Amino acid sequence: MSGTVDPLLAEFVWFGTATLRRRAHVVAGRPACPTRVAPYSSGVATVHQLCRDSDCLGIMHDIYGRVLRRLEQLGESVELLSERPGYVRTIVGSQVADYEREARVCRGLPAKPTRNDGPARRVNEALDDCVEAGWLQTLFRMMRGYACRDGRASSAWPVDAWSNEKSSHDGVLRGIGTTTARTELLKDIQAVIETAGRVAGKAWVNDKILHPLQTCVVPLDDEYDRASSQQVQPADMVVVSDLRQRFRRLTLAGMPSEAALRQSSLEVLGAEPRCAVGEVLDDLLLPTAAQAQPMP
Ligand SMILES: [Zn+2]
Repeated sequence: MSGTVDPLLAEFVWFGTATLRRRAHVVAGRPACPTRVAPYSSGVATVHQLCRDSDCLGIMHDIYGRVLRRLEQLGESVELLSERPGYVRTIVGSQVADYEREARVCRGLPAKPTRNDGPARRVNEALDDCVEAGWLQTLFRMMRGYACRDGRASSAWPVDAWSNEKSSHDGVLRGIGTTTARTELLKDIQAVIETAGRVAGKAWVNDKILHPLQTCVVPLDDEYDRASSQQVQPADMVVVSDLRQRFRRLTLAGMPSEAALRQSSLEVLGAEPRCAVGEVLDDLLLPTAAQAQPMP
């Protein structure tokens, strides 16, 4: 990058491109970006060599240039940053979206995989008749977006992340990562694929979803698998911790475990649990009378 770089804008762009840059590192065989402080944001900010070797730093430069050009088109300067930081963040976001769209088109994928007109609209209308219409429509959108995402590292559906998403959607507690939750999600995915195939045709489903899902994958190493499987959202950790505390208090007070799970779930999440108690709180279960050891 030539000329003077605005430190604050550099920071906005750096954090606004975090997902794109992480994918660039994954393509280069690393699980994450090693540079913590935004380059150019201060005199001492240094860039890790891995960011120079992958596309990470290049992406930052590209988006920074795009944001400057966009500001110029709008007749604005970098000064806008101190007056309306939220607006500048939006501009960064839209430039990131443009960048992703161009990258997809370069690879022969649809520019807007999640658009809801044409055949997709007819599929959404057909999903209206399903019991969980709102959720299945959300899932349909996520499936199209995921299948066409640039730099995706797996050809399997992210069922655990989507179980989590479904729980935020309907407020029902699920044991994320358990067979029950995964089976439920795979059934939902199957329902969407079947409806889409019936309404838009099998060729459309293959072109827009199944073929991109299987083919547009970048290689990844074991380290990435481990790192991504351990990612837990902080908000989820708070909820689970609250749930566990209540559950423990109730069972210690003598309430049977299934009833305690139900009450904790209703109190914390405002909804009935949809999993067996052992799937989410197994390490907190007290031994039942049959399993309990006799006193010596
Ligand atoms: Zn990096």
